[in-house]
Formats: sequence, structure tokens, C-alpha cells
Amino acid sequence: MKTCVIPLPDEAATLNLGAQLARVCSSAVVIYLYGDLGAGKTTFSRGFLQALGHQGNVKSPTYTLVEPYQLSDRSLYHFDLYRLADPEELEFMGIRDYFSGDALCLVEWPQQGAGVLPEPDLALTLSYVASARAAEIRALSPLGNTLLQQFQQGREPA
Ligand code: ADP
Ligand code: MG
Repeated sequence: MKTCVIPLPDEAATLNLGAQLARVCSSAVVIYLYGDLGAGKTTFSRGFLQALGHQGNVKSPTYTLVEPYQLSDRSLYHFDLYRLADPEELEFMGIRDYFSGDALCLVEWPQQGAGVLPEPDLALTLSYVASARAAEIRALSPLGNTLLQQFQQGREPA
């Protein structure tokens, strides 16, 4: 499976990474977002959502766990599981319904839902590099592999 590492010198680069990845994502893609507080998971999600036409705020749904977005031609669910006390809570919120349709799912703090959350197609790990950031993207399914390849082709200088 493919992996790739991308330097993110500033916030605009994180937003742009989200936008570039969004442009290759078909429906029914699950993306896990790892990284410490402030690493840029929500910033990435904002770039992703804006590239798909969302106008307006994107905040981490820290207390509600999930924020639904209706985009022009599909649904996106943005999860933040930081405050999830027990992965079993996900069963009570009907987690399977979110992942069974053809919605896109972005999940911050996926490790909090281990064992209950469906496996991802792509996993992004954002880390601090001095005052900047870097992202490592891993493909974890055949679909993820295809998407990552398309993403990399899109980044090659013309
Ligand atoms: P998380 O969701 O991972 O907790 P946020 O996206 O909410 O993180 O916050 C990230 C913070 O870091 C924001 O203040 C944002 O402006 C900043 N930031 C995002 N990407 C970068 C970057 N590549 N370099 C420096 N600062 C960044
Ligand atoms: Mg966040």
C-alpha cells in the first residue's frame, strides 16, 4: 500500500492539502485524521469541505461527536471523537448508519473508536515540525491506494 509525506509550511498548505485530497475523493471514502491537539486536523477538514462547495464554518464537533454536511451531490460526516468515553457509545449513536451509505467520512481521534469504527481507506497523520506541520498519508484499502495515486499525480508539476 502507498504512503506519502507532505511538508506543510503554513496553514494555507494544510487547507490546500485538504482541498487536493477532496478533489480525488469519490463517495463512500473513510479518512482517519490522527495528530495531537492543534496539529491541523480540523484545518485539513475545512479545506476539504470548502473544496466540495461548503461555505461557512467548520468547527470540530467536540461535544456532539459528529457534524453532518449536505454538499451539492453528497453527504459528508465530520467526526471528532476526542471526548468519546467508550467506543460502545458509537453503537448507541447508530454509527453504522453513517458509514453504510455513500457519504464521505472524516474522523478526528479515530483511536478513541477503535474496535467499533469501520476501517479507513486513508489515514492522515499530522505532526508538528517546529512551528509548521507535516502530513503522512497512508492508503489502507484498494480504494485508498487508487485515491492516493490520483492525488500524487495531481500534485506533480505540469
Ligand atoms: P486540530 O483539529 O488538529 O486540533 P486545528 O486545525 O483546530 O487542529 O488547529 C490547528 C492550528 O494550527 C490552527 O491554529 C491553524 O491555523 C494552525 N495550522 C494549521 N496548519 C498549519 C501549518 N501547516 N503550519 C502552521 N500552523 C498551522
Ligand atoms: Mg479538531
